[in-house]
Amino acid sequence: MGAGLKHSPQSYDVIVLGAGGAGLMCAGVAGQRGLRVLLLDHAANPGEKIRISGGGRCNFTNLNAAPGHFISANPAFCTSALRRYTPQDFIALVEAHGIAWHEKTLGQLFCDGSARQIVAMLLAECDKGGVVLRLGETIAAVAHDGAGYQVSTDLSHYAAPQLVVATGGLSIPKLGASGLGYRIATQFGLNLVPTRAGLVPLTFAPEELEPLRALAGLAVPDSVLSCGKTRFREALLFTHRGLSGPAVLQISSYWRAGEAIVADLAPEQDVLAALKQARRETPKQELATAIGQWLPRRLALFRAGDDAAMRLADLSDARLRLAADALKQWRLLPAGHEGYRTAEVTLGGVDTAGLSSQSMMARTVPGLYCIGEVVDVTGHLGGFNFQWAWASGQAAGRAVQRAQ
Ligand SMILES: Cc1cc2nc3c(=O)[nH]c(=O)nc-3n(C[C@H](O)[C@H](O)[C@H](O)COP(=O)(O)OP(=O)(O)OC[C@H]3O[C@@H](n4cnc5c(N)ncnc54)[C@H](O)[C@@H]3O)c2cc1C
Repeated sequence: MGAGLKHSPQSYDVIVLGAGGAGLMCAGVAGQRGLRVLLLDHAANPGEKIRISGGGRCNFTNLNAAPGHFISANPAFCTSALRRYTPQDFIALVEAHGIAWHEKTLGQLFCDGSARQIVAMLLAECDKGGVVLRLGETIAAVAHDGAGYQVSTDLSHYAAPQLVVATGGLSIPKLGASGLGYRIATQFGLNLVPTRAGLVPLTFAPEELEPLRALAGLAVPDSVLSCGKTRFREALLFTHRGLSGPAVLQISSYWRAGEAIVADLAPEQDVLAALKQARRETPKQELATAIGQWLPRRLALFRAGDDAAMRLADLSDARLRLAADALKQWRLLPAGHEGYRTAEVTLGGVDTAGLSSQSMMARTVPGLYCIGEVVDVTGHLGGFNFQWAWASGQAAGRAVQRAQ
C-alpha cells in the first residue's frame, strides 16, 4: 500500500474509498457541506449490495435500531452515531425522494418498489454535493506523505488531507468485497478484531446432513434457536445443504465451531402437557399426528422417529417426554457455515478502541476515518446493518473538514 507516486495528484478535501451504503452517505453529506469529495470504487457500479439486498427491495432500516442489536467488542461504540442519525432521519430522506416503503415485520422497513431506488437516492444526494464518483479503478497504493493522504490507482493519482475507508467487509467477493480496508487500517497502525462470516447459513457433516436432506424446502415459521445464552425467535428453513432462514442467519453470528444449537420448534407450547392430554382424550391417535398440530407432517414424522406410528395410549410418560424434547430441545451440531461466499456480513474488523465514536476518525491517525462494515460493528438481520452504514457515514460526513 505504500508505493511512491510519480505524477502530481488531483487534490480533494476528502477521498472516500468504497461507494457502498456508508461511502455514498458520507460522500453526499460532506459534499453538501461544501467539501470537494472524491468517491472511489473498483466496482463497475456503486451500491451493489444495496441493489441485491432484501430480495431486491432493500430492508433499509429497522425502527428498533439500538446498540442491543449490534455485535462488537465494544457494544456501546455505535450508540452515539445511531442516536445522531436515526431510522426516522433515513425515512425522512427516503420520503423526500418520493420512495414508497412499508414495514414488513419486527420493525423492518422495505421499499415498496425496488432497492435500486435507494441507490439512485444516494447518488442524487452525492450529485447535489458535487461529489466526483470514479468507478472501476483499482487502488494500487495508499500513502501519507506528512501533508496528506495519497491514493494511486491503475488510472490516476489523488491526494487529500482526509481519507475515509468505507470498503466494507469480506462478504460476497463477487460483489466487490476485498480486504483493502483492513490492510489500510493495519498500515496506519490500527488494530483489527479477528474477522469471521456472519448472517450465514449453517452446514452439517454428511452423517448429520443425510437425514436432514429429506426435509429440504420445509419451513417452520416460528422457532426459537439458542446458542449459549443467545436466542432468536424467527423462521427456520431446511435446505439441501443444511439450515437457513432468519433464525439460523441470526444465530450464526454468535455460533462458534464445536458449539451446539438448540431448536425449539414449538415456542410457548407446553408440548409434554399437551401430549399427555391428547393421550387421555384421543388415546388411539398416532404420535406423529399429535405432533403434527405444531409441525409440517414431514417434520413431525422425522422428529417422532421410530415412535411415529405408535398410538399415544402405548407411550409411557418417559417416551412422551422424549417426543416433547425432540420438539422443544432439538440439539443440532453444525459442522461449519457457507462462508463469505454467501454471508451477508463480516463480523470483527477495525477495532473501535482506536476510533472516535463521534466522528469515526482514528484517534492516533489524524484525518483517517473508518465507517460501515469495515468497522467492528455488525448488526443483527433486519435492516440494522444499513442503519449502521448510514449513521457511521453521516458521522464521518459531518466531521471531515474543508482543507485550509
Ligand atoms: C445478499 C446481502 C443482502 C443484504 N441485505 C441487507 C438488508 O436488507 N438490510 C441490511 O441492513 N443489510 C443487508 N446486508 C448487509 C449490508 O449490505 C452491508 O452491511 C452494507 O452494505 C455495508 O455497507 P458498507 O458501505 O460498509 O460496505 P459495502 O456495501 O460492502 O461497500 C463497500 C464498497 O467498497 C468497495 N470496495 C471493496 N474493496 C475495494 C477495493 N479494494 N478497491 C476499491 N473499492 C473497494 C466495494 O466495491 C463496495 O462498493 C446484506 C448483505 C448481503 C451480502
